[in-house]
Amino acid sequence: MMKKNKKLTIINIILMLACLAALGSLVIVLMRQNSKTSTKTAVPVTRISQDKAQKAQKKIKWIKQKQPVHLPILMYHAIHDMTPDEAGNANLIVSPAVFESHIRRLSEEGYYFLSPEEAYRALSQNALPAKKVIWLTFDDSLLDFYTIAYPILKKYQARATNNVITSFTDEGRSGNLTIKQMKEMKTNGMSFQSHTVNHPDLAVSDQETQAKELSESRTYLDKELNQTTTAIAYPAGRYSDTTLSLANQYKLGLTTNEGLASAENGLLSLNRVRILPDTSADILMSTIAPALP
Ligand SMILES: [Zn+2]
Repeated sequence: MMKKNKKLTIINIILMLACLAALGSLVIVLMRQNSKTSTKTAVPVTRISQDKAQKAQKKIKWIKQKQPVHLPILMYHAIHDMTPDEAGNANLIVSPAVFESHIRRLSEEGYYFLSPEEAYRALSQNALPAKKVIWLTFDDSLLDFYTIAYPILKKYQARATNNVITSFTDEGRSGNLTIKQMKEMKTNGMSFQSHTVNHPDLAVSDQETQAKELSESRTYLDKELNQTTTAIAYPAGRYSDTTLSLANQYKLGLTTNEGLASAENGLLSLNRVRILPDTSADILMSTIAPALP
């Protein structure tokens, strides 16, 4: 009798251990499946956050302004530490540290970063989505917008626009943004507008050349980025009356005329605020302060 009991107990223990082992492997399999599912949902998560961002945009109340809207449209070019052989272009290069000091300060002070479409709405309807607004623009579609400026902009959830020289992108020039990079940045609020096909001096180009430069850059961006391109920045800020008449295929035209932008400028000849290598955050804030309603 005792022996039989002992045998039964041993069998019970073996059965119990087998059950535990089976349970253990089941848990491992389930955990693995779980982690697989979470990798698979990586893409929809991005979409969800985009949807959220869109919903947040919809919630924004646009307030009609009593006084004419004045927008600070900042103009940057390259963001990197200047090398000695770049002295000739010094005024177009802002160091990453100075650039981050601008974005940090704007973010701390509660500035709302406009998209081109929102800038158009602000100027054409004389309304604002926030008390403090700003539109960050970059000219020349330089690669450091992707490698240096973009990570800083993302860090502060700031948005910016880069004006693209479309032939440089089309040729795949090194040092220039690619369509793939632009598409990636678009998912995080960056936008890409026209800076013509070849960056000519429009003020001295004939009408046919100007027409091609303006329309072919727009259709290239529309097609490659699946968008309706809203704005053009005239190369080196140079334009003529002919340019302005041809530019009406865009909603907004950006110059290098110094100052805050207003509908009074004409929507196709808007002022911008040039950012220089020594523009400190303090100087920037005092330059754009008159825009505050
Ligand atoms: Zn340019």
